[in-house]
Amino acid sequence: MNEQIRHFAEQVLTNKLLERSDIETLSGLSTDFLDDVLYWANEIRKKYFGNRIKMCSIVPGRLGGCSQDCGFCAQSVRYDTGVDKTPRVLSDEEIMAGAREAAKKGVPHYGIVYSGRSVSADEIERLTGLTKRIRSECGIGVCMGLGIVSEEAIGRLAAAGVERFNHNLETSERYFSQIVSTHTYGERVKTIRTAMKAGLGLCAGGIFGIGETEADRIDMALELRGLEVDTVPMNFLHPIAGTPLGTMQTLKPREILRIVALYRFILPRTHLKVAGGRVLNLRDVQSWIFYAGCTSILSGNYLTTAGRAVEEDVRMVTDLGLEIG
Ligand code: SF4
Repeated sequence: MNEQIRHFAEQVLTNKLLERSDIETLSGLSTDFLDDVLYWANEIRKKYFGNRIKMCSIVPGRLGGCSQDCGFCAQSVRYDTGVDKTPRVLSDEEIMAGAREAAKKGVPHYGIVYSGRSVSADEIERLTGLTKRIRSECGIGVCMGLGIVSEEAIGRLAAAGVERFNHNLETSERYFSQIVSTHTYGERVKTIRTAMKAGLGLCAGGIFGIGETEADRIDMALELRGLEVDTVPMNFLHPIAGTPLGTMQTLKPREILRIVALYRFILPRTHLKVAGGRVLNLRDVQSWIFYAGCTSILSGNYLTTAGRAVEEDVRMVTDLGLEIG
């Protein structure tokens, strides 16, 4: 057992947050001592979250036709990815059908995610009505990811019963402009703060394997720690042909586990949600994510790529002696 890693873990287990210099040392050790890092990440997960694992499903409320240029995304109109360039907005009944399905399968949180920079006031009005219906008819929590939103719109969503807002940083402030040029990192931070001010839970994270450095990963983790978001979705690039990152090499499974474990050390009390790219990149080692400190998964299909059947994920979690909640 590596003594330095044990020392860092003991600090985290006694409620201390690691300083950047310690995180850099840990990161340097983590490749050679991956087993140790995983062991302690699991201990940290158990200490702060016990055996409970959160699970959510998402539905693309609006799919494709996005004016923005995020370099990893199939939904941007700027890239030829096979996704329709005219946005498709799901009907009330399609969104309700997804919610009923999630509830039937025991998924406690349902996220409605829109492509695009922002949504109109009329659409916010429709979504407030849908939120009330989902909560009363299906009895599950409602989360939304709608791009950049105003204080007024967020307030209306919160009043309707939306629990959590998703808005990712994607990467570090330093690297952001290499990946997105149509909006700024600052706008993303501002939206996160706006949603928090309205009292919503915040699901904000990013995507890994897009050419970022280890320092970028640490920067993003520390930014998220400073923002005090409650859930950090961790996506791992699934290269989409036609996008600027379409030919990028995917991260190896052990590298993904290492990144999740490093985030568990940096963000001990924050839910880490392994989301996009789990099935493609982790293959047979998916269940190891919990040992690396993951406390939440996105189950079912992703926005533009296929995921795994919810039933399989429920079985994976329960076979490990963990509980969905
Ligand atoms: S990530 Fe969102 S904002 Fe960026 S291109 Fe895709 S749909 Fe548009």
